[in-house]
Amino acid sequence: MSPVIPLHPIGASAGCNDAPVLRERGQREVFCGLTGIIWLHRKIQDAFFLVVGSRTCAHLIQSAAGVMIFAEPRFATAIIDERDLAGLADANAELDRVVERLLSRRPDIKLLFLVGSCPSEVIKLDLSRAAARLTTAHLPKVRVLNYSGSGIETTFTQGEDACLASLVPELPAVDSSAPPNLLVVGALADVVEDQFTRLFDELGIGPVQFFPPRQASDLPPIGLNTRFLLAQPFLSDTARALEARGARRIPAPFPLGAEGTTLWLQAAASAWGLEQAHVEHVIAPKRERAESALARHRLQLAGRSAFFFPDSQLEIPLGRFLSRELGMTLTEVGTPYLHRQHMAEELSLLPAGTCLSEGQDVDKQLDRCRAAQPDMVVCGLGLANPLEAEGMTTKWAIELVFTPIQGFDQAADLAALFTRPLQRRARLVA
Ligand code: SF4
Repeated sequence: MSPVIPLHPIGASAGCNDAPVLRERGQREVFCGLTGIIWLHRKIQDAFFLVVGSRTCAHLIQSAAGVMIFAEPRFATAIIDERDLAGLADANAELDRVVERLLSRRPDIKLLFLVGSCPSEVIKLDLSRAAARLTTAHLPKVRVLNYSGSGIETTFTQGEDACLASLVPELPAVDSSAPPNLLVVGALADVVEDQFTRLFDELGIGPVQFFPPRQASDLPPIGLNTRFLLAQPFLSDTARALEARGARRIPAPFPLGAEGTTLWLQAAASAWGLEQAHVEHVIAPKRERAESALARHRLQLAGRSAFFFPDSQLEIPLGRFLSRELGMTLTEVGTPYLHRQHMAEELSLLPAGTCLSEGQDVDKQLDRCRAAQPDMVVCGLGLANPLEAEGMTTKWAIELVFTPIQGFDQAADLAALFTRPLQRRARLVA
């Protein structure tokens, strides 16, 4: 069988693989990992997320999720109050009571996450022991796991990484004689999952499972013959945990845009030893449809400049998409953390000479942004309003995590997330 040749050749020394990176370790403006609960609770439909935190944590979750609740929410906050902080109450006993009440009221919960926060870390509440204790008390009806969503030294997408990493030990094992299976890792909208399922099916790749699954009772099996594709770029701990269980990552760019999706699928096809002609036959019509849907966005975006503040860890794949498929120039691409191994294929596709930065010193970065006067700034909510007031056009990074943007059918929707702010700005100044 002939190997699958990528659409655009990827060379290890091409693009920005060897480019210098500006590393900054100053004040940061990002949401904490609790934010991930907003999309994870909608994805795993029988899971509940109990934040063990303060009223601030409760407000963050409620205001971020408030507009999206259509049914009884599957998240809540067990408030740590002054008595707990002063060590006057037995926080473990109170937590057990809260969990008992919750589970007796909500028999639909099959998986309970105790989510740590800054306050629970400060009082050193051991949530892993609490989870083990509560699992013993509530199995087989409910499994209790824990992870940290604390904002201390983390960024908001790491909440998903920590959540999925905590789930990896629960995945059932398959032995080495089992046929190879593909695991797609990272929360995707159901509509995107369904599209990828059909594509893998047409290609002849399978069995395919998605992680996280839609139901906690449907955890995908894992073993030495499991190959996994990252669908999100912020899952380094999860990838490490999967590799520790014998699964092997398929190196690939991320499935953003027509090109990214093509290369992502081709990487899986190559791992499955499929004929290039067959892969091209399956993929080409979808890719061409995506490329033609992108054309009208390219007319509006080509030649414009974009500046990325570090926020979601999607910045490098998005920068690659904007520059290669929409003709934008990249003034600066900032990322909270640069995982060189997981980003190798993306970095090799970025135009040589792109200014890359990792971490943040927000005032210095704002100065660079103001000096550059880019046409589009991708940043967190906290920076967007002040920059808009200064006349800049912004895109909220968090919207790119909430919106289905992966795959061929979403390529134009992804581009539209960037054209709309420019159209809005044009209307404002007209
Ligand atoms: S976890 Fe920390 S950063 Fe996040 S809302 Fe609670 S106190 Fe704030």
